[in-house]
Amino acid sequence: MASLPSTQKGVVINKTGGTDVLEYKTDLPVPAPAAGQVLVKNDYLGINYIDTYFRTGLYKPAQFPYVLGREAEGTIVKAGGGELYGLKEGDRVVWLGEAAYAEYTAVPADKVYKIPDGIPPKVAAAALLQGLTALSLVREAYHVEKGDWVLVHAAAGGTGLLLVQLLKAIGANTIGTASTPEKVELARRAGATHVINYSVEDVKAKVLELTGGAGVAAVLDGVGKATFDLSLESVARKGTLVSFGNASGAVPPFAIARLSARNTRLLRPTLFNYIATRAEFEAYAADLFGFAARGELDFRIHDTYPLSEIARAHADLEGRRTAGKLLLDPTK
Ligand code: NDP
Repeated sequence: MASLPSTQKGVVINKTGGTDVLEYKTDLPVPAPAAGQVLVKNDYLGINYIDTYFRTGLYKPAQFPYVLGREAEGTIVKAGGGELYGLKEGDRVVWLGEAAYAEYTAVPADKVYKIPDGIPPKVAAAALLQGLTALSLVREAYHVEKGDWVLVHAAAGGTGLLLVQLLKAIGANTIGTASTPEKVELARRAGATHVINYSVEDVKAKVLELTGGAGVAAVLDGVGKATFDLSLESVARKGTLVSFGNASGAVPPFAIARLSARNTRLLRPTLFNYIATRAEFEAYAADLFGFAARGELDFRIHDTYPLSEIARAHADLEGRRTAGKLLLDPTK
């Protein structure tokens, strides 16, 4: 293995706020992997909505300076010793962790997965976090059965397009929502039974019409504040509302007595509690990359941004101008 540089490109924040707090650096130290860690040279970094929560302070960064980013695809260039789950230098991997917005990241090995042969770097980079999220939502947050009616908000988003495809594969009837005609068309092509433009249409009326007045068995809601009431009103008797994100803001506290109107189950899951153990992570990742290897999931990449243009990427994501996955190239 060639010798490693001592400095690298990366993006840090020293305070929370708007996109102006994102600082692109070319002289960050290259970390050394501790025991139980591997050092990965990242090819492509995945952007997720959660990155914006840490930037704005909705979620609190552990310390400053803080390197954003939760996932990447690359090659292991140094192993730290200790339990590495069979991972070794030269392995092409995807990983979940922290400090992804950089050329090199030292990552705990328990959330590193060796990519099966034949899966291109960008596909692997686009797949992991949103793919595992989508899988865990349809399997554990609400176990979707064939024939279920399911409402998916932001159906043309990174997570949304994967949810729609998985629901189609299960044989569920998906009602998607999206904010523009182009996004509506993307979600429809991904396999939704019907897609509602929630900028202009009455979502609840359409959901009741499509479900014969019953409502849906489950709502998968990553939009949060703006759609919470609508989601609650769209669920069938004994249905499930899975609120899994805050793209429009965090859902404010609410009176649980409202759940009794239709005996609604309410869940607020995070991916990391479904893949907490190595066995859980490996099983889900193997399933996900099985879909990828068989070409059964299309990982739509909205764009690959130079890392130096991180502010533009965040602005596009928060400005609802993206459909599918946003990637970063850490070399540029
Ligand atoms: P997306 O690619 O889905 O982007 C967010 C989308 O949300 C936008 O494209 C937009 O679609 C929609 N949206 C609706 N209202 C707003 C608003 N006010 N501001 C911005 N966007 C809005 O992002 P991700 O796939 O990365 O994440 C989707 C959601 O899933 C997020 O809430 C994220 O936090 C959550 N998530 C949760 C996880 C968990 O473990 N719980 C794991 C992964 C993701 P449109 O224009 O069609 O409305």
